[in-house]
Amino acid sequence: MTRPIGRAIMTVAVLLWPAAGWAQSADLVLLHGKIVTVDDRFTVAEALAVKGQRIAAVGTSAEIEKLKDAHTRVIDLSGKTVIPGLIDNHAHWIRAAEHNELRFDGVTSRKQALKMLSDRAQAANPGEWIVVLGGWSEEQFTDDPRGFPLDELDRLVPNHPVVLQAVYNHSYLNSAALKTADIDANTADPPGGKIEKDASGKPSGLVRGPGGVAFVAAKIPLDSQEAWLANTRRLVAYLNGLGITAWSDAGGRGMGPKHYEPYRHLAERGELNARVFWLTMRQPATPEQVDRVLPEIPQQKPFQGNDYFDNIGWGEGTYLPVMTNTMRAGANTRPEDMAQFRRIIEAVAAHGLPLNAHVEMEPAIDAFLDQCEAVNKLHPIKGLRWVFSHVDQVTEAQLDRMKRLGISAELHSRPLIQGALMHKVHGDKTWDMPPFRRVQDSGIHWGLGSDATAVTPSDPFYTLSFAVTGRMVGGQVVNRQTITREEALIAHTRANAYFLFQEANLGSLARGKYADLLVLDRDYLTVPDDQIKDTKPLMTMVGGKIVHEAQTN
Ligand SMILES: [Zn+2]
Repeated sequence: MTRPIGRAIMTVAVLLWPAAGWAQSADLVLLHGKIVTVDDRFTVAEALAVKGQRIAAVGTSAEIEKLKDAHTRVIDLSGKTVIPGLIDNHAHWIRAAEHNELRFDGVTSRKQALKMLSDRAQAANPGEWIVVLGGWSEEQFTDDPRGFPLDELDRLVPNHPVVLQAVYNHSYLNSAALKTADIDANTADPPGGKIEKDASGKPSGLVRGPGGVAFVAAKIPLDSQEAWLANTRRLVAYLNGLGITAWSDAGGRGMGPKHYEPYRHLAERGELNARVFWLTMRQPATPEQVDRVLPEIPQQKPFQGNDYFDNIGWGEGTYLPVMTNTMRAGANTRPEDMAQFRRIIEAVAAHGLPLNAHVEMEPAIDAFLDQCEAVNKLHPIKGLRWVFSHVDQVTEAQLDRMKRLGISAELHSRPLIQGALMHKVHGDKTWDMPPFRRVQDSGIHWGLGSDATAVTPSDPFYTLSFAVTGRMVGGQVVNRQTITREEALIAHTRANAYFLFQEANLGSLARGKYADLLVLDRDYLTVPDDQIKDTKPLMTMVGGKIVHEAQTN
């Protein structure tokens, strides 16, 4: 009785290369590159094969070359770097398709912003509104860190209403916008906002405060459903160009079915070029409103969609009076408000739903944890992937408590445009907001996101740059809790797949996962720190489909 040694060896060979027969005809191979897989060992490979929507193999160019035949498309990377598609764990991009916005994401010159505005006006239809709804602040303009006075806007764009909203703090309007929106000497200040007026009582064009920003935004007419669909396609294409292939959408105020419809429409037709996972957003503000929201919770059925469009739980709003705001120190944790928060999260736990809760300041995190620990005794939450979003002031002790409950953390790059202001509000505490290094070292599950579009830029390379350098747009250092670029990349890819319940499909470049990847214009792992933010995808692929290719001159 001799063992069939040859056969044993063959079995081993097949185990090592199980995809051989199946993948022999790859649809696409990428050769001679630097494939940063972001797998558990942070393996760097040379080549990759795609079959259908998925990665068929990762290896050396010689190995991958064997998988091509006459019909295989071959891309020679010539040493270029490939990374997994970037996943944002917290953005408000579904809502952003309401308007065909102009964006100042990462624009560091005021002169350039003015040029973009004037170019847009040239191309706009008569009477079309031109709006930038946040994502920038005056401090990012290194040539001239100022806002936009009325007379300048009027000279540049006399015939279109213009609204330039800085972060979520104030909006600059031109005369056409004031007129169309019926804002004049007699208009009263909205709650939480101030319409600035000149000596003669006329509006100066500046409207301040979150209430003022919301008041102005509500005056901008919503596009038709048809235009909305076009906006969605345009927005997703823009995000693909920045390197985004998937995100978790945290909803937003005033959102309803019409916001989700364009995405559902595109996903059903296989035309949605990013993976969009969304949370059911309700924001009750009174005990009576909580009464009305509670019956909705048992009706929730997440995970009925597909790998392009799906609902993944409840959040980020819980109970409006306990929501904190990075621009205000302190936290609202009155016992009667925490009791309403408790009613919501207890129902969410009782029905086995994932929860994403917006919380920022240290005292609020403590109050939230007290309630989560109490609820956990009634309805264990550890298996439900609950998440705290933002946690700008989370402490080590709080991270320990979160770990015991299985709560993970989403951290965001909001100081990119708010950092200078945060230093005015929070003083030296701002250096640790958010505490990337502390969270990374705690071993808790965590990931990186933006919280775009109003309060931060949408560009994921800016988010990576912020986590690595602590520099806001324009270059000022505002955060000292920096991490390595490898840690940041993991947090923006593989770690975020978990928040989407997609870790088997997304987040690293490995056989069997979706071919969601970026070919970069520079090597993210070796460029100088100050160039990380300038990184651009030459090509973006989602599910094996090329959704973005940079123009080559
Ligand atoms: Zn939030």
